[in-house]
Amino acid sequence: MAKYDVVIIGSGPGGYVCALRCAQLGMKTALVEKYPVLGGTCLNVGCIPSKALLDSSEHFHNAVENFKEHGIDIPAPKVNLAQMIKRKQEVVDQTTAGIDFLMKKNKVDVFHGMGSFVSKNQVKVTRGDGSNEVLDTVKVIIATGSKPSSLPFITLNKERVITSTEALKLKEVPKHLIVVGGGVIGLELGSVYARLGSEVSVVEYMDRIIPTMDSTMSKELQKVLKKLGMKFYLGHKVKAVASKGKSVTLKADDPKGTEIELKGDYCLVSVGRKPYTDNLGLENAGISVDERGRIPVDEKLQTGTPGIYAIGDVIKGAMLAHKAEEEGVFVAEVIAGQHPHIDYNLIPGVVYTWPEVAAVGKTEEQLKDEGHAFKVGSFPMRALGRSRASMNLDGLVKVLADKETDEILGVHIIGARAADLIAEAVVAMEFRASAEDISRMSHAHPTFAEAMKEACLDATDKRALHI
Ligand code: FAD
Ligand code: NAD
Repeated sequence: MAKYDVVIIGSGPGGYVCALRCAQLGMKTALVEKYPVLGGTCLNVGCIPSKALLDSSEHFHNAVENFKEHGIDIPAPKVNLAQMIKRKQEVVDQTTAGIDFLMKKNKVDVFHGMGSFVSKNQVKVTRGDGSNEVLDTVKVIIATGSKPSSLPFITLNKERVITSTEALKLKEVPKHLIVVGGGVIGLELGSVYARLGSEVSVVEYMDRIIPTMDSTMSKELQKVLKKLGMKFYLGHKVKAVASKGKSVTLKADDPKGTEIELKGDYCLVSVGRKPYTDNLGLENAGISVDERGRIPVDEKLQTGTPGIYAIGDVIKGAMLAHKAEEEGVFVAEVIAGQHPHIDYNLIPGVVYTWPEVAAVGKTEEQLKDEGHAFKVGSFPMRALGRSRASMNLDGLVKVLADKETDEILGVHIIGARAADLIAEAVVAMEFRASAEDISRMSHAHPTFAEAMKEACLDATDKRALHI
């Protein structure tokens, strides 16, 4: 007799949410985590701590740049980085403690130790002291997540040449932070330190930042981050990063092939993340990874071995916490015999700079590539009363709708609270709303959400009201 219905390896947002749903559905569930704390990348060294530092640094930035205009006179504020990092850690600790509570409440058995396959129905948990125990199970769900990737010629010494994990606990504000990779991590953590006074230089291989998002967002975000003082080296091919003592030197070729050199005191390498399956013993379960290290799965997220499933960063698709969560729920329900569904096109993506960038559905570039006839509606944030009242003038909403049917195909927002505003677009698109549907719905005044309504009016037949 198997001891468990399900063993889940990895307690990130994929794994722990999956455990909760399995328990809700009446399965005897075990969760295996190699670290002493639950929550994975997202809670410990990802989403939550980065947002804590983004919020703290934005408060500082506002105190320096905007309080006076608001009529708040204070002595020149100073950064207390140690306190900022301490608060961040408290937020992390409270959040991970919440996961412990949820596991207990739902009677999920938690095992701390490295999980590895003995066979397709047995998972060994090896503790730090070398002792181990074997869990017998009917199903296994692999939710082992990802780790930062690097470039072959870069040595991450984790002191001066660092990943996001170290950037979340620096002991000093860098004088000059060089960032390799102008994607989400580079821009979020780059803006944290730019706000705290660092010179920040972003070296990006592609010809625009956040290259997978709609190009209008790349352009607008670069404009606002430049105002913050960040420098951009686009279309640059990094060739070398060397660190000596307290200094770091980066060499890259510019788009014309001319070598440039940057000198700084820290270099953040943020060129993506790679799936993590080290020491998992996949071979004992008959599973092999693809050329990018990901575990191949079918449409039910089942691996090539029946009864073993994989979710989150360790499989294909966007490396996002909410994508991992959806997959965790999906697999639990599949195992329970239900028929869940995930529309991957409607998983939103957010960059938590200020202003934030948020998107769902297709970009203009994707629609052009697909030959899909579409129309564009847009509306600038600065035309809103709410934006002027709060001094958040940057950004716009861009709505892409089918040329014939007016169905919304993509929404791209850069502006204050875009991360929250995108939820309206997700709902609209889940229900296959047209731009006119949204434009005829009342949006509270004055709110940032009015920009969505106005952009939809613009998409419907160019009849935005407040411009
Ligand atoms: P993970 O969260 O990586 O969890 C995997 C867990 O498995 C880990 O705890 C690991 O220790 C454990 N594990 C691995 N192997 C074993 C083993 N053999 N035995 C036992 N345990 C094992 N996403 C967002 O959606 N929004 C954000 O704002 C956001 N911000 C981010 C900021 C940063 C700096 C980073 C690095 C990432 C951010 N992400 C964000 C991405 C997000 O963190 C990941 O997409 C998400 O954590 C993936 O969840 P997961 O459950 O697949 O894996
Ligand atoms: P990313 O894929 O977002 O960005 C990597 C960037 O590095 C890209 O712009 C890429 O063109 C560039 N790049 C690649 N090779 C390069 C080279 N040789 N030289 C210069 N630039 C190079 O990856 P990331 O920022 O490291 O983040 C990793 C993952 O974590 C992402 O998949 C992201 O989804 C997730 N994450 C999400 C959030 C969020 O949702 N807000 C925040 C942080 C991280």
